[in-house]
Amino acid sequence: MARIAVIGAGMGAMAAAARLAVAGHRVAVYERTRTYGGAVRRFERDGFRFDTGPGVLTLPAVYRDLFVKTGREPLEDCVDLVQVDPSSRHVFADGTEAALPNASRAGAVAALDEALGSGAGQRWGDFLVRAREAWDRTRRPLLEEPLWPDWEVLAEREPYPAVPHRRLLRTRRAGTLAEVGGRELRDARLTALLESHALAHGLDPRTAPASAAVLPYMEHAFGTWYVRGGLRELARAVHERCVARRVEFHFGAEVTGIVEKDGRAAGVELADGRVAEADHVVAGVAPGALEGLVRGAAVRGDGDVPAQRRAASRLTVLLALRGGRDEGAAHRTVVHAQDRDAELEALFGTAPGPAARPTVTVLRPDDASLVPDRGHEAVTLTAAVPAQAGPAQTEALRLHAENLITVAERALPGLRDRLLWHEVRTPADVREATGAEGGAIPAPALAAAGGRLLHPSNTTRTAGLFTVGGWSHPGGGLPHAGMSGALVAGLIVEGPDFRGSQ
Ligand SMILES: Cc1cc2nc3c(=O)[nH]c(=O)nc-3n(C[C@H](O)[C@H](O)[C@H](O)COP(=O)(O)OP(=O)(O)OC[C@H]3O[C@@H](n4cnc5c(N)ncnc54)[C@H](O)[C@@H]3O)c2cc1C
Repeated sequence: MARIAVIGAGMGAMAAAARLAVAGHRVAVYERTRTYGGAVRRFERDGFRFDTGPGVLTLPAVYRDLFVKTGREPLEDCVDLVQVDPSSRHVFADGTEAALPNASRAGAVAALDEALGSGAGQRWGDFLVRAREAWDRTRRPLLEEPLWPDWEVLAEREPYPAVPHRRLLRTRRAGTLAEVGGRELRDARLTALLESHALAHGLDPRTAPASAAVLPYMEHAFGTWYVRGGLRELARAVHERCVARRVEFHFGAEVTGIVEKDGRAAGVELADGRVAEADHVVAGVAPGALEGLVRGAAVRGDGDVPAQRRAASRLTVLLALRGGRDEGAAHRTVVHAQDRDAELEALFGTAPGPAARPTVTVLRPDDASLVPDRGHEAVTLTAAVPAQAGPAQTEALRLHAENLITVAERALPGLRDRLLWHEVRTPADVREATGAEGGAIPAPALAAAGGRLLHPSNTTRTAGLFTVGGWSHPGGGLPHAGMSGALVAGLIVEGPDFRGSQ
């Protein structure tokens, strides 16, 4: 039995902790805040409840596997997991609307043909077939296996297939997601649909590789899910599973350093001066935080993927509304920006800032536990914003929340008249919850783009020190961070020859 110290109680770290405890190790989690879940938090007031982190779950198989491997009760017995149908409704710049059924390619094709004109659905359907190829080529290395030592192969090879080009009489390979939209979808609304998947992860579709096609593919193939009571319930269930497996949690326990002995990680130092000795240390924190813990020593070996330094954040506006939720309202509506180029330039240009009229995701869960009674509704708005958490930027974003409400009115007419109060969550709140600089939120790892969107491996230069969660392989988002927990547990239990989760 080894002693394992886990830094942070984020979803990736807890997933690793539960698996390691089941493997017979003594696991202690040290979390600087007073609660578990990291980004997966909840805000409650006056009988209203809101998720302040993710609002939907994709690839629930990752958490199903975690529950199967760590106990007798499956995930479905621990949380009320429901499919979101339609998966998403889209309000495009020209006012056209389309609702895409959950996990049905044929259904999406029919819905898009009807909403956007015949041929549009087929083009989207054909795109999904190609996106599946990219998924099939990268699923193992970018989700289920430890980062390959020769990761350069993933960095250089674009897995999204080339498309035959009639006039040129040869195939042509898109370099970016924007090129996939322009050449293969050939409709500004379909392109907006495609690009919104990148934007939701804070990625610029003009520079994101074509391999980002796996993001919409994952939703279409495996569905979009919600956990009743809010996604925070998933964090609650994972925490309970850890406790049931005798993982020890120390809250309000900030780790200030990683102890090293003879070139091996040997424990953690805590802010109150205590030292917890351990045989392995698993760090589930952002790269800046980790560098602070090793006091400037290099975390990564020369051959590793460099840690990502830049990622976008989110602005979230929680709306308490009078009047009940409309029967049949979509769980998730994406209101697309009216000026796509202006939005991308504002977010990713030379002086990043929020877009004046951004793409806004409107979440309206059908969940009585989120409201004081059926005569009220809890609605959440989110938009991508740069990761900037200084006081002036935070103040500007608080005012910017009004713009999100204005945009959301296109999906929810009369919204302002129903508003009781609203609460704004800025990147500064994300930083507070996760410890990530600027409130940055990491995206899932993607192939190609020269490796710019890969994340560093779960092993480090220091023997016995592992990294888990959204900032290491295979990257951010609930499913990917959950998988990082499986990979780290595999690497510790089975050693460096571990070849991945089955
Ligand atoms: C607003 C928002 C919206 C999101 N939307 C989505 C979405 O729609 N879909 C999706 O899949 N994902 C989404 N995510 C991302 C997703 O929530 C995360 O990628 C996922 O929860 C994985 O988190 P993690 O394991 O990296 O840990 P984190 O959530 O980053 O948590 C890190 C933990 O480590 C702790 N910590 C940091 N430093 C120390 C220290 N020195 N000592 C002790 N503890 C420390 C922190 O307090 C925190 O609890 C969203 C995130 C946010 C913030």
